Amino acid sequence: MTHESFDGFGLAEPILAALRAQKFTTPTPIQTGAIPFLLAGRDLLGTAQTGTGKTAAFALPILNHLAANRVRSKPFHTRTLILAPTRELAVQIEEEFKRFGAGLGLRSVLILGGVGRSPQVQRMSRGADIVVGTPGRICDLMNTRELQLGQVELFVLDEADRMLDLGFIRDIRKVVATLPARRQSMLFSATMPEEVGKLAESLLRDPERVRVAGEEPTPERIEQHVHFMEGSGKRNKLVELLGDPGMQRVIVFTRTKRGADRVSEQLEQAGIGADAMHGNKSQGARQAALERFRTGRARVLVATDLAARGIDVAGITHVVNFELPNEPESYVHRIGRTARAGASGVAISFCDGSERAYLRAIEKLTGVKLTVVSGTPPTETKPPPRGGGQQRNNSANGNQRRDFGGGRGQRRMAA
Ligand code: ADP
Ligand code: MG
Repeated sequence: MTHESFDGFGLAEPILAALRAQKFTTPTPIQTGAIPFLLAGRDLLGTAQTGTGKTAAFALPILNHLAANRVRSKPFHTRTLILAPTRELAVQIEEEFKRFGAGLGLRSVLILGGVGRSPQVQRMSRGADIVVGTPGRICDLMNTRELQLGQVELFVLDEADRMLDLGFIRDIRKVVATLPARRQSMLFSATMPEEVGKLAESLLRDPERVRVAGEEPTPERIEQHVHFMEGSGKRNKLVELLGDPGMQRVIVFTRTKRGADRVSEQLEQAGIGADAMHGNKSQGARQAALERFRTGRARVLVATDLAARGIDVAGITHVVNFELPNEPESYVHRIGRTARAGASGVAISFCDGSERAYLRAIEKLTGVKLTVVSGTPPTETKPPPRGGGQQRNNSANGNQRRDFGGGRGQRRMAA
């Protein structure tokens, strides 16, 4: 089935009006593929490159269902639960629901950590049609019964492979155990490692799989460069590259929070306006840094993988991997912050001797050989410890991988 416009799906008129107002004229392939199944009530596993409109692919049919089947939510209950790995992404998803649900009179509530709890509880006391949140605070409110899932009809995991990974699996398990068996569930991601795919499907009932086919995980419109150098040369290289005014809006990824602080300080010293964003900053500081970047007041955002998934900032011209990620999927998500919604972009990776194994894993996953722009591969040295203990929930251990049955081996080994 091909759809040249949104008109053929049978969406309610207020949604079509919102689509027109947002200048969404042509559905993207994941939208064309997923929306009819979701409107028909099917469970779904959707994979498509970053920046291809997965949010609307689930938001539009959900809004349509909620509007067409009016049910009053009891206090502290919700009809829809959407989970995302970061607060910023949850905020963005709720905004998309508001944008397309403007004329429908539905109530949405954001449930996030790092900000006041009582306004969220207050809002939940009136019942919600849509809750978007991060797992920690969601479970917190479940514990006190200020969020109850007995009325949930629709359940979404965005960035599903990340949600089913170590740091979140316990919370997700708890949520899923509380959901009504009769529900519609949908999982979306740009990446879905095979072992996680099995786990994902165990959450779904007779799911449709919509995979936007024939594409590499990374958009072809992204030029992928690598600079080989010693670790000590990275700082000067970054300042040198940023001398090019063509690097208009740049996100720089580091592996650790300390690294993000260090690099942003170094850029400031070099007279380049940069903010750092990572999990040790207050939520206010995180949201402010993202906002300064979004509005162009800061040219550079230095971030950990906290900003790698889902964040949609228009006009990012360059992504710099100051340090390569130890998980190749993270590379796919990081560079996907550029070249969104059909734009193009450049991804620049710095690779020192300790990162050559990471580079190999990335090239294997993406099927793309990065273009060497400067340097020669330095002698390979031992990689730093996995993740530096920074991006994951440190209390998680290997046993928690065996949720939903079926032991999973080390993910990275299979990648
Ligand atoms: P993904 O979740 O696949 O990474 P998003 O849902 O964040 O992608 O969408 C990426 C960008 O594309 C957003 O700015 C969104 O508003 C825009 N977009 C999505 N679908 C369409 C469409 N059909 N027409 C025009 N723009 C779209
Ligand atoms: Mg997304």
